Amino acid sequence: HLRKSNGYAPIVSDFDSFYTRRLYTRIRDCWNRPITGVPSRTVTLLERTSKDYNHTFTLTGNKKEVLNFSSYNYLGFAQKEGPCATAVAETTQKCGLGLSATRAETGDSELHHELEQLVARFVGKEDAMVISMGYATNSTTIPALVGKGSLIISDELNHSSLIFGARLSGAAIRVFKHNNMSDFRSVLRECISQGQPRTHRPWKKILVVVEGLYSMEGSIVNLPEMIELKREFRFYLYVDEAHSIGALGENGGGVCDFFGVDPAEVDILMGTFTKSFGGAGGYIAGDKAVIDHLRLTNHAYVYAEPISPPVIQQIITSMKIICGEDGTDDGRRRIKQLAENSLYFASRLREMGFIVYGDEGSPVIPLLLFNPAKLPAFSRECLKRGIAVVVVGYPATPIITSRARFCLSAAHTRADLDYTLRELDEVGDLLMLKVSRNKGM
Ligand code: PMP
Repeated sequence: HLRKSNGYAPIVSDFDSFYTRRLYTRIRDCWNRPITGVPSRTVTLLERTSKDYNHTFTLTGNKKEVLNFSSYNYLGFAQKEGPCATAVAETTQKCGLGLSATRAETGDSELHHELEQLVARFVGKEDAMVISMGYATNSTTIPALVGKGSLIISDELNHSSLIFGARLSGAAIRVFKHNNMSDFRSVLRECISQGQPRTHRPWKKILVVVEGLYSMEGSIVNLPEMIELKREFRFYLYVDEAHSIGALGENGGGVCDFFGVDPAEVDILMGTFTKSFGGAGGYIAGDKAVIDHLRLTNHAYVYAEPISPPVIQQIITSMKIICGEDGTDDGRRRIKQLAENSLYFASRLREMGFIVYGDEGSPVIPLLLFNPAKLPAFSRECLKRGIAVVVVGYPATPIITSRARFCLSAAHTRADLDYTLRELDEVGDLLMLKVSRNKGM
């Protein structure tokens, strides 16, 4: 079906699919397979049979439980037992699964308001609103804030949902090198008329869009410098905390907490519930006037089904544990455990001679494989040894910096990490991945 048929290009063909489809087939062969049960400390994968190809699976096939480094379960709230699971089961009984209406109709439940107030408190903003999908939260909020005549300045590695929202907005877009403050400054100087650096002219508004923690790099936004530049150039700042909320900072409060920056310095704090909270959906937090405006103009908020009640319950329960509002120190323990696990795993990998990206403290730990041909081999070797890890290549990363990405969790034990490090030591030798002298395990 990829062949030219009627003299014009088939609907599914483009340059990228020509370039990458063979690679994708091989990566799918070793990783993208359905799971069953809860993707927590371990994950149960469906084994592929020789009859299976592409996305077709024999669903009754064998299952294999492996250690899970592939989910964004940073604080270990993806679980089938415990306080979240109990509260979710009760809410399902009481409220059912869906509201069958938008917020403006009969979909505006008390749980939504409770969550919005909790989010605002947790991130240190006046108000917050929640939307049923993290992706849509970005792609529909940005067009509700800026449009034609405005300028968006975006980090080159921003997530697809941010890029999508920026393009949809109709604003002019300029991109700066990833987390590079001197390049960012040059873009600002170029875009803001010389002699008038303290105004937004010639733009109606300037919105700078960045992420808190970059999920392919493990890099943390240089927030303190960004705030200094904000004071000088007076732009609005939008930070996507999908990966940093819950996972960074002493209180799990994200990048502001991590750097000790007052959340008032950031205009829009966005985040998702899919990672640290084991739920689904996204939030926008900001001044009350901004949230009031977005409640009327954000299309995903106005025209789509809100988050389902049991999912809200999962988020409320986990967020209260993180904040300590449940009266225990469970949240603190999880935050500390995640930080310890992340530091330990990254430093051991480096000692073993691997090239590892990421800033100190990042729970996302990318291990460089470089050669895209090593992606399937690495994935297969890990799976054979009972370790699930996502391998990433072009177009999600530049083709020559193909990598495996380990997502650490508070649910991992030291024994899990030591077992994985021992196995990786061998895989690293087998695939010649270590660049410095191997100190071994
Ligand atoms: N922003 C970032 C930075 C993300 O990484 C993701 C998804 N991983 C999203 C937004 C979209 O969130 P969701 O998966 O919750 O829709």
